Amino acid sequence: MSFIRGLKCRECGREYEIAPIYVCEFCFGPLEVVYDYQGIKGVLTREVIQSRPNNLWRYRELLPVEGEPTNALNTGFTPLVKADNLAKHLGLKELYIKDDTVAHPTLSFKDRVVAVALARAREFGFDTVACASTGNLAHAVSAHGAKEGFKRFIFIPASLEKSKIVASLVYEPNLIAVDGNYDDVNRLCSEIANKYRWAFVNINIRPFYAEGSKSQGFEIIEQLGWKAPDAVVVPCASGSLLTKIWKSFKEMKEVGLIDEVHTKVFAAQATGCSPIVAAIKQGIDVIKPVKPDTIAKSLAIGNPADGFYAIHVIRETGGYGEDASDQEIIDAMKLLARTEGIFAETAGGVTLASAIKLINSGKIDKNGTTVLCITGNGLKTQEALSGHTPEPHYIKPNINSFEEVLAKIKKV
Ligand SMILES: *Cc1c(COP(=O)(O)O)cnc(C)c1O
Ligand SMILES: [Zn+2]
Repeated sequence: MSFIRGLKCRECGREYEIAPIYVCEFCFGPLEVVYDYQGIKGVLTREVIQSRPNNLWRYRELLPVEGEPTNALNTGFTPLVKADNLAKHLGLKELYIKDDTVAHPTLSFKDRVVAVALARAREFGFDTVACASTGNLAHAVSAHGAKEGFKRFIFIPASLEKSKIVASLVYEPNLIAVDGNYDDVNRLCSEIANKYRWAFVNINIRPFYAEGSKSQGFEIIEQLGWKAPDAVVVPCASGSLLTKIWKSFKEMKEVGLIDEVHTKVFAAQATGCSPIVAAIKQGIDVIKPVKPDTIAKSLAIGNPADGFYAIHVIRETGGYGEDASDQEIIDAMKLLARTEGIFAETAGGVTLASAIKLINSGKIDKNGTTVLCITGNGLKTQEALSGHTPEPHYIKPNINSFEEVLAKIKKV
């Protein structure tokens, strides 16, 4: 049984039947999935959720799929790590890492959105899936699409990290490397999406795809013992994840799974691409597009589609935004590894480095419960660390050589 009511324009409120469409015909506003919350109340209980397998479909009544999902049965329900060492280092009472570095199967939170997009693409009858990607989405669509037997067209900026290109190519999609930045790729893909009947997960399937991000928020609440955190720090590219985490918290209250939500939502961006955080700091409503220049390539969207809505969520909840330089990103990646044993990609460095600034400025309360959304694995962006880690100790294969080194190590 499905509780989806239809699609609704976020600007003028006009409603549409469920279809692979994404903009309002009247005002060009983005469309969003709406649900029958009254119907879900009492059906989707804590007991029902807990009786289901540990994947993102345990919240399926609040996701935009009709039937029983058969794909991505191992996606979602990543660990919520209690980060006591890092909390102590930062002077926080209670800190958690939502650890999507171990998302299945492609080690980033994009597995969640692609899981939902492909379930929906199947229901719509598409045989080809496509995307415009800054890297992680390419990886996820390549992998999930292979498993589900879709034809795949993956569009990326040609300047992407080598490791991320290989990570997609191994699944043998049609990989198109465009001579331009992400915003150029996205523009081209909108044109292609109008011409070919393909499911572009982040274009014509976007209203459904984006809903997949809510699963991260549902899990945070369930894993905190059915309560919302006081603060959540979310890395922003298009700003979609941030708005959907907030939506997920409100929905859990709406359907009676929790009693209250008082969470402040904070945005994290790289200084070299921070249009959302810049608007927050300047106290304005409009996003000024930028040309990205940062090592955090997975967040390098200069003209963020959901930026306007992200700003509103941040203001509405009493949150704020911070940005981090390349050096601060690297330092934070190393700090997270050293204290919590978690190797995050550059986006994780952005989240932690920005959180540190928010804590130091008093924007995040040290006595509250804080969650950091760590969204991708460090093995995907190893290039960023080259020259920034210590060298190994090189020795000859004998005990003397080892003990010479040991003596040096002990001295330090
Ligand atoms: C895509 C992505 C995000 C955020 O994306 P939004 O477009 O803001 O939803 C965050 N972290 C990583 C690692 C990503 O790949
Ligand atoms: Zn409209």
